[in-house]
Amino acid sequence: MTRRVGILGGGQLARMMALAGLPLGLRFSLLDPAPDACAGQLAPLRKADWNDTQALAAFAESIDIATFDFENVPAASLDVLAARVPAWPGRDALATAQDRLVEKTRFNALGIPTPGFMAVDDRAGLDAAARALGLPAILKTRRLGYDGKGQFRLRGEADLDAAWAALGEQAPRVGLILEAFVPFRRELSVVAVRSRTGEFAAWPITENWHVEGVLSASLAPADVPEPLAREAIGHARRLADSLDYVGVFALELFDAGDRLLANEMAPRVHNSGHWTIEGARTSQFENHLRAILGWPLGDTGARAVSCMLNFLGEVPEAAAALAVPGLHLHDYGKAPRAGRKVGHATLCADTAEELVQGLERAGQALGRMAQVAPVVEKLRSC
Ligand code: AMP
Repeated sequence: MTRRVGILGGGQLARMMALAGLPLGLRFSLLDPAPDACAGQLAPLRKADWNDTQALAAFAESIDIATFDFENVPAASLDVLAARVPAWPGRDALATAQDRLVEKTRFNALGIPTPGFMAVDDRAGLDAAARALGLPAILKTRRLGYDGKGQFRLRGEADLDAAWAALGEQAPRVGLILEAFVPFRRELSVVAVRSRTGEFAAWPITENWHVEGVLSASLAPADVPEPLAREAIGHARRLADSLDYVGVFALELFDAGDRLLANEMAPRVHNSGHWTIEGARTSQFENHLRAILGWPLGDTGARAVSCMLNFLGEVPEAAAALAVPGLHLHDYGKAPRAGRKVGHATLCADTAEELVQGLERAGQALGRMAQVAPVVEKLRSC
């Protein structure tokens, strides 16, 4: 029987899910408010608003199982689908990940340490939180923030007015949270998967570099001591079990030297797991589908050493990119626009030295020396 998978959201994550699922005999349908959502190039796309209950119900009639590629899908939209077909990951996971305060409270309850945090409801609350947590700190919206948007860094007390001017008026709508600033050594993520049967697996830990809050490069497997890797994966497992999570998710962590602090979870396939398409035995996209369908999970082991480079704004010329040995190109089929995630490349190599050579070639050929530099430096220092 052909299984029809419905995805709320039709962006690049839905697109890569469809690319992974078509060989498994799956068929895809998408629902997205944007008529030109890029996964629509591969599967039928229904254009509708997230709160269009009629459209959601009609969509549910056309599919056997539902998932999403975007964590800001309203939980109520998922409910409309879940009343008719299995919908994964479930509401608890979605609602938890949509609110930074709920999420961090849950992490702490599970024994997963986080940066210090406090809810901020008004200007007096900001002053109180700054006094309690100390500065520097970061004021963030609780809901609807992503890729570093909806955030203000406070260096000292002189920034309190500016922080409130930047985000205060959003407080009634999306809520605010103040987080202590963590002088971390590096950013790591655990991309993991839990299936309907409770089977759990994690890919090797990934190290990530961000530029202006947006992921720029990922390296996997990260050079992480075994006890630290076990701790990180243990956090991910406890979180997944407590949410009765089904599907792939990412847990973003700060490596603060002597401890790991959890920043946030993404209840979906994740940009820091794109390297798994070519760099792991089973990709995050395939395992997400296996998990929600209750099929056995595939091996999450790394095939090689991989580095993923994000392309923001525009994708390099295919011929120039493909001239770099070991480079795999992913063009999401999106119109170029400043700052937009439009594609990525993954370089795979058998050894760290080979990966350094590949990255240097890619950096030169694509004019991206600054983007590859921190990864090259890391590989050289290992
Ligand atoms: P987020 O949207 O929470 O993932 O934040 C985007 C980026 O801001 C992170 O990837 C970090 O580089 C930085 N950041 C966020 N929270 C903190 C924090 N509490 N301390 C230091 N840096 C942070």
